[in-house]
Amino acid sequence: MKTRQEYIDSLRRLNLEVHMFGELVTNVVDHPLVAPSMNAVAATYEMAQGDIMTAVSHLTGNRINRFTHTHQSADDLVRKSKMERLMGAHTGTCFQRCAGMDALNTLSVVTYNIDRAHGTGYHERFLKFLEYVQKEDLVCDAAMTDAKGDRRLRPAQQADPDMYTHVIREDSDGIVVRGAKLHQTGALNSHEIIVVPTRAMRQEDKDYAISFAVPSDTAGVIYIYGRQPSDTRKLEDKTYDVGNVFYGGHECLVVFDDVFVPWERVFMCREYEFATEIVEKFASYHRQSYACKAGMGDVLIGATQTIAEYNGIADVPHVKDKIVEMNHLNETIYCCSLACAHEGAPEPSGTFYVNSLMANITKLHVTRVPYELARMAHDIAGGAVATVPSEKELRDPRIGKYVEKYMKGVASVPAEARMRVLRLIESLTMGMGAVCYLPESMHGAGSPQAQRIMIAREINMGVKQRAAKRLCGID
Ligand code: SF4
Ligand code: FE
Repeated sequence: MKTRQEYIDSLRRLNLEVHMFGELVTNVVDHPLVAPSMNAVAATYEMAQGDIMTAVSHLTGNRINRFTHTHQSADDLVRKSKMERLMGAHTGTCFQRCAGMDALNTLSVVTYNIDRAHGTGYHERFLKFLEYVQKEDLVCDAAMTDAKGDRRLRPAQQADPDMYTHVIREDSDGIVVRGAKLHQTGALNSHEIIVVPTRAMRQEDKDYAISFAVPSDTAGVIYIYGRQPSDTRKLEDKTYDVGNVFYGGHECLVVFDDVFVPWERVFMCREYEFATEIVEKFASYHRQSYACKAGMGDVLIGATQTIAEYNGIADVPHVKDKIVEMNHLNETIYCCSLACAHEGAPEPSGTFYVNSLMANITKLHVTRVPYELARMAHDIAGGAVATVPSEKELRDPRIGKYVEKYMKGVASVPAEARMRVLRLIESLTMGMGAVCYLPESMHGAGSPQAQRIMIAREINMGVKQRAAKRLCGID
């Protein structure tokens, strides 16, 4: 396994085309807007010890980072949920490495199923790629969400044929692809980009039914940085005004401008009827992964309890009750994620898959709970959460003494501590940290309606109706 330093050095060797604020970024690793997110991924390397964060490869028998593992038991799935929560609480942000893990697991299931139906050789290719990812301890970006154009139209019906990523040419060496993937979490911190389809496909869409992996610095792959609220605070000289002084996240718009992919890295090509299975499997695995939000919830609850103490209101009954409510809601996410993992079962390829109904329940809770926690954190923190002066004012020789005096709560706690925790709550609920905690909870791994559709499909209504009818004597 790589050390933190080896991971950072490996990123320095990448030659990515990155565009940010009107400029071409030459040194991505040290860029102040990227470094906090790279630190969050680096934490997955630093923490790689013990049987939560590591696993034994079923391919080589070697100990590997769990983010590169394919689940060989329900116990593996449970450890994955535990890892997600642990890392969420450790970093207080998106640590970006889970979608790649979820794509690896999805492909380990679906390539096998495609081969069984079509006599293709995708699974063996995929296993070679997986072994490479495990051996080199790589970060994979899972690229699913296409531009989608007119949402009512299918891929082949769009006015612009590139609204969904597709094959534009092929020859005996490989395929050439064009399109874009949006909201790519941690793209700049990744070694590999794994592309999977974003929706069900029909025969007329078959050029869009593709899956492949390319090294992140492949010619024609272009990264366009996505702005976050208050992101330029990261450009200020390392003040605590960023809120989370160690870690952050980022997303990119990733363009595939006629990118060549050799056949040995193609895991699906035109087997359109398997697009649905890839989407559903990936979605369920990633919906389980949202135990990360329970970890981020731990941070928000910890910050809220702290500001309650600093404001002198921690013993007020309604505040205590709200903190209990925050914990109750937050643990619900974790309960759901653990449940879908415990109920996991093997697929024909041998990889264990979560209980998909429960994974969807997990994620539907995640679309609501963080917003409710943010509301309660604001309630308890008070209006200062949105009006704290900058750190520079606290340090100012003329007015610093006023900031220190009037930003104080209880006498025993310095104003700076109170301002720091307010900044953390601000960031998690309204600032750059909120990108990972709120909209990501809403739309990451699919928007709430996608979970409702899956829940409607997977509940066994017949069993419920039979139970009811029997008990009231209906034949
Ligand atoms: Fe992992 Fe959560 Fe970030 Fe998704 S949102 S990549 S599950 S930390
Ligand atoms: Fe996500």
